Amino acid sequence: MSAKGSDQASRSAVPHTASAASVPAAGAPQPHTGATEGPALDRRGRPLRDLRISVTDRCNFRCSYCMPRSVFGPGFEFLPPAALLSFEEIARVSRACVSLGVRKLRLTGGEPLLRRDLPRLIEQLPRDPGMEVALTTNGSLLERHARALAAAGLARVTVSLDSIDDAVFQRMNDADVSVKHVLAGIDAARAAGLGVKINAVIQRGVNDAGMVDLVRHFKGSGISVRLIEFMDVGNTNGWIAGDVVSAQEMLTTLDAHFPLEPVAPRYPGEVAKRHRFADGSGELGIIASVTQPFCGDCSRARLSAQGMLYSCLFAVQGHDLRAALRGGVDDAGLRQQIAGVWQGRRDAYSEQRGQPLVTLGRPRKIEMSYIGG
Ligand code: SAM
Repeated sequence: MSAKGSDQASRSAVPHTASAASVPAAGAPQPHTGATEGPALDRRGRPLRDLRISVTDRCNFRCSYCMPRSVFGPGFEFLPPAALLSFEEIARVSRACVSLGVRKLRLTGGEPLLRRDLPRLIEQLPRDPGMEVALTTNGSLLERHARALAAAGLARVTVSLDSIDDAVFQRMNDADVSVKHVLAGIDAARAAGLGVKINAVIQRGVNDAGMVDLVRHFKGSGISVRLIEFMDVGNTNGWIAGDVVSAQEMLTTLDAHFPLEPVAPRYPGEVAKRHRFADGSGELGIIASVTQPFCGDCSRARLSAQGMLYSCLFAVQGHDLRAALRGGVDDAGLRQQIAGVWQGRRDAYSEQRGQPLVTLGRPRKIEMSYIGG
């Protein structure tokens, strides 16, 4: 059974329904029924190692680079609760993915801590040896939930914090959440024994002037800050190339303040290029998704809150696993569908971004809040 569909999080388009896409997209997965024994490899030989699971399309922030209020305002229709995969359904998909080679499950959204009883989901996720369950959060609700998340088996959290300057941070989140709430969440996470990293999207003219202060704040704390190039995810964030602060530019600026030395990757496909402070006070990472694409090593699949499986952050098309789950598919059939999507995968959007002949006429991308960041 092949249940492919395109979906967009935009009021001007049908928000979340799966419908047949008429144009085969560059890099869109081509399900086929290949062998499903052992780890799955895609058409470029890339293994399936990570599954990002969006547990909700809702967020309490309205960051302009992700969920601008002008689009995701009061009238925006989010998914109704019945459309969301249940925890049991998410756990089934996760188990199938683990049997195909996945070693890291990351819960995301939207804002994952808005999903009620999230620790109950974490308890149900597979925990094979060498596996890790992580969470990406804006941190605003972390103080309240950190202990229960850790007790349920969560290993680490990545907290998105774009500026340590309260005025800049509040302007960016557009939700009146102050830096001190996020810092309290980070403290609670560490006290609960969770590993913590910080993600910051750096945008020219928005928060680039505060990048050094952000890094300085966490330097020596044992928490690594990862600076991310502003990406053209979705269709609503007004991305232009001129707003991207390149990894090289970030590195040059940072190195002038804190001399840095490159650190070898821990494993193939490590997303952040790591650098250690020459004075021994820790390290930082830079994620150069735009200027130095890492599609060649990408091992990530994404499961949307309503059960669409995507093989690229920039996908225009997904595969409807919810239909399969609710249609009574057995475990072998579920595994076979996921393997088929992965084995047909050719995605390399970031490598092709600058090639109009490849990307021209490409249907609209799925929004990041929906596909899962
Ligand atoms: N709400 C959670 C959070 O804030 O971390 C999880 C979802 S959010 C979509 C996941 C990550 O995607 C965040 O670190 C966010 O900064 C990043 N992100 C969103 N839009 C982005 C963009 N246009 N470019 C780069 N990173 C982006």
